[in-house]
Amino acid sequence: MEQYDLVVIGAGSTGAYLAKHMAKRGHSVLVIDKLPKTKVGTKYDIFHIEEKEFGRLGIPRPQKGDPAWAFEFVKNYNADPLTLYPKCQMNPMVGLHMHEYTMLLNEEAEKAGAKILYSCEFKAFLFDENKKICGVDTRWKGHGKKIGARLVADCSGMAAVGRTALPDGYGVENDQLTDEDMFYVILRYVRLLDPKDYLEGSTFWAYYKSWIAPSADPHGAIIGIGACHSFDYAEKIYADMEQTVPLPAYELDHVERGRTPYTRNPYSMVADGFFVSGDAGNLTKSVNGEGVTSSMVQLQLAFDTLDRALKLGKVTRGYMWEINKKYNASQGAEFAMLRALLVGVVNAANFDEFQYAFESGIISDELLNAAAGAPLPVKTLFGAAKGFAGGIAKKKIRLSTVKAAVGALKNAVAISEHYKRFPDTEAGYDAWAKKADALYEKIGKIR
Ligand SMILES: Cc1cc2nc3c(=O)[nH]c(=O)nc-3n(C[C@H](O)[C@H](O)[C@H](O)COP(=O)(O)OP(=O)(O)OC[C@H]3O[C@@H](n4cnc5c(N)ncnc54)[C@H](O)[C@@H]3O)c2cc1C
Repeated sequence: MEQYDLVVIGAGSTGAYLAKHMAKRGHSVLVIDKLPKTKVGTKYDIFHIEEKEFGRLGIPRPQKGDPAWAFEFVKNYNADPLTLYPKCQMNPMVGLHMHEYTMLLNEEAEKAGAKILYSCEFKAFLFDENKKICGVDTRWKGHGKKIGARLVADCSGMAAVGRTALPDGYGVENDQLTDEDMFYVILRYVRLLDPKDYLEGSTFWAYYKSWIAPSADPHGAIIGIGACHSFDYAEKIYADMEQTVPLPAYELDHVERGRTPYTRNPYSMVADGFFVSGDAGNLTKSVNGEGVTSSMVQLQLAFDTLDRALKLGKVTRGYMWEINKKYNASQGAEFAMLRALLVGVVNAANFDEFQYAFESGIISDELLNAAAGAPLPVKTLFGAAKGFAGGIAKKKIRLSTVKAAVGALKNAVAISEHYKRFPDTEAGYDAWAKKADALYEKIGKIR
């Protein structure tokens, strides 16, 4: 039986990035993907990466003319349902072709020394005499193929084939996502009929969780929507949106559909001989369900620990625990806070209240910049509070919405503080998880 230090399930962006960095550190790495090479990264075509992430994460930055490059833009608008008071943030974004970019990351992994076996499907874990993971059982070229590994990383995307195959109580939650835990995303690739409508940037309508953004065709656009429950529900909201949002005249070219996790990461992402990342660990951003770079942020926090664990022969849940601590206390806390806020406010506010929030300046350019990581000026906070008070006085905002917003803010602070207190070791985990569950019960799920 072939034996590796690390077997990675999935050659998507997450698996390739992990494989590259662990191979660079001198470990023997095998990546398996159930798809043939030509199909990896073809679940949809266009995705975005913020310009600033390429340098931070050390990932290739395609330029105009490269096969992976599709377009770039700087202006990102957030708009009210009637699109009368759009707010603009300047944030350079690069649009990329998913298959071509994934192939770039696969090549980088191979150059670093990792092997990639396409058309090889994970079927089950192999366990040693102590019932600890020691490899994977796969299907390759129509035959069973067993592969030994000291560590198996599940980077299999939403299917989470490794995580959900873990025995109960193995150390990482093994439940499947429900319809309430994911966004159903529908992308309409369109051609714009009037040249005055050609896009300079993207516009996001939070009320409808919908957007219009450039596409690879400079005379085209992608109109997207993401909603929980089902594709049918997403189509219903899209139909509602078309009634109010003044979309440009367009001709439909084609439609793509996909799903992305919209729920918390497993509290523990490590177990004996096991690690989870990417969509398999629900590491998507709580603002928009995007997950390519946020998963890499978790991986950057994990590399040193995984490296040491393999070098010292301590690939145990206890030794790798610091990955949970580092992640939950940083990006995990931030995502938990934002999700609690968004769920509370988006579920409570109605059409008129959304409209008023943009009109009155409660939602301002500065506030949106702050949500994207810029410092929040005190005068902006005062402005928002003043707008809120005025809205209540003028009966533009219902008392029930105010109560829901205050509750959401309290929940957001409580869950964030709790994540920052994630236990340093496995001891204390059960009590921590129980309290986190109770907080999530209060937060609820997005409608
Ligand atoms: C329509 C849509 C638009 C999006 N837009 C953006 C965006 O603009 N920016 C952004 O950052 N994110 C975006 N996302 C989210 C982003 O696509 C994911 O977060 C990201 O692709 C996850 O990467 P991954 O490597 O974890 O999983 P995947 O890319 O899903 O890769 C998992 C791999 O595992 C393989 N696999 C599955 N099962 C097995 C098995 N049994 N054995 C072996 N291999 C297996 C699969 O074949 C696949 O190649 C979007 C999502 C959708 C649906």
